[in-house]
Amino acid sequence: MRIVILGPPGAGKGTYASRLTKILGIPHISTGDMVREEIKKQTDLGKKIKEYSDKGVLVPDDIIIKLLEERLKKPDCKEGFILDGFPRTINQAEALEKIAKIDLVINLKVPDDIIITRLSNRLICSKCGAIYNLLTLKPKKEGVCDKCGGKLYRREDDRPEVIRERLNIYRKQTEPLIDYYTKKGLLRNVRCDDLMIPPEVMVEKIIEVIRETVEEVS
Ligand code: ADP
Ligand code: ZN
Repeated sequence: MRIVILGPPGAGKGTYASRLTKILGIPHISTGDMVREEIKKQTDLGKKIKEYSDKGVLVPDDIIIKLLEERLKKPDCKEGFILDGFPRTINQAEALEKIAKIDLVINLKVPDDIIITRLSNRLICSKCGAIYNLLTLKPKKEGVCDKCGGKLYRREDDRPEVIRERLNIYRKQTEPLIDYYTKKGLLRNVRCDDLMIPPEVMVEKIIEVIRETVEEVS
């Protein structure tokens, strides 16, 4: 199954997708992670990308589309994938259509106040990319990843002024995709109105929607 997870920054796309990938046995492809990987490698492309990413603005479509296209060519994507953070513009959605047929778009609906609280308390593992939250998903040992022992850090773009900018950009450039995929009959909403809902519960809700879609198809 080829799934897109849509939603504002901080909606939980990465947190849920990293759990769904284990349950469904298809890869989790996060363009945000790919961007951070590229920056870490300090390649020419990485240096260029960093200027956008640190400010919270989108990396130009041609760069990100090319990165994604290369990734989807890999053999592990044959049986499907979960896309997190792509597409983020109509232009990207149209490019994606030429690369792969999407079966389902999960739209995470999360109020702004929850998003802002979440992002301001988010920590990421510098080694394995695991996502933590000081309020809702604390690491067992402060500053250290439960899974791999890596050091946890705050993302450059999780500062309050950048968060606001990212939300603006989401509204302007990404939200139109909700209409786009609704018209194609692919969109399903999953709501999260409470900061303290554990990820497992949200993952259950998403799995339920996936099950229903599989049943409709077969
Ligand atoms: P968020 O938590 O805001 O959803 P991500 O981790 O998905 O952030 O992405 C981090 C940054 O990487 C974005 O702010 C943007 O600069 C860049 N990026 C990721 N995916 C895309 C994309 N599909 N198009 C353009 N830029 C992207
Ligand atoms: Zn880790």
